[in-house]
Amino acid sequence: MLNAKFYETYYFCNVIKNTLQDQFGLARVLNEFYGDGNVAYLIETFPKFSLFHKYLYFVIDRIYYENLNQLAENKSKRLPIEEALKFHSIAHISFQSYMEKNENKTEHYDDLIHNYMEDLNDAYEQLLTHTVEEVFYILFQNRDLLMEFNLMISGALEREDIKEIDTDLVTKRGRLKRGHIPKWVKRAVYFRDRGQCVLCNKDLSGIVSLDNKENYDHIVALAQYGFNDVTNIQLLCKECNQNEKKAGEAVTSNSYQKWYT
Ligand SMILES: [Zn+2]
Repeated sequence: MLNAKFYETYYFCNVIKNTLQDQFGLARVLNEFYGDGNVAYLIETFPKFSLFHKYLYFVIDRIYYENLNQLAENKSKRLPIEEALKFHSIAHISFQSYMEKNENKTEHYDDLIHNYMEDLNDAYEQLLTHTVEEVFYILFQNRDLLMEFNLMISGALEREDIKEIDTDLVTKRGRLKRGHIPKWVKRAVYFRDRGQCVLCNKDLSGIVSLDNKENYDHIVALAQYGFNDVTNIQLLCKECNQNEKKAGEAVTSNSYQKWYT
């Protein structure tokens, strides 16, 4: 279970959305995530800490450190990260006591806050992973956003020549091999998409009709450099799956079943 407290969670959700909408403007930052061969290290078959988790981790970590630089200008004695740690009841030393302890060692305030962050170590890691889980919990429902993310990362894979990579996960043509879709992925996607084809809303639960079988579809196809990731899978009926394969373009829908009508 996830004990979600939604502390700053929606703020981070929004930042993530903005990063995907302004990929061009942020190219230099995003390059740290997937550029210079880094995308090769992201190749895994359906990891539970998904590709999208890794992206959330990268962005949120960066935000925390960027905020630190702003703090350095104001020389504040209480850091926002302490509020976050307190909110999540994560044990840590306060910045005030840290300053008092290290007064003689470090001269510059900037160094002090950076060292403080380093020394937080486990507490910071705990905060970060928890925040990532909360943000993932909300954004996993947004298929459009997941498609944007998967298109971005598949673009990075396409630019990279991964044929050279010595791994049994890659085909001779430089695409990722089809990975076996684990049961937990199917269950997660089935529940998110409510047992319905996301394109034509056909019921695939077997309750209404036994004829309709569920298909687990790669939103960005493997042929288009898509990944074997839980965030790149959606529920389709057989017909829509076949039509989509013919078209080849990544497609999803932003129609969702309401809680009630
Ligand atoms: Zn369909």
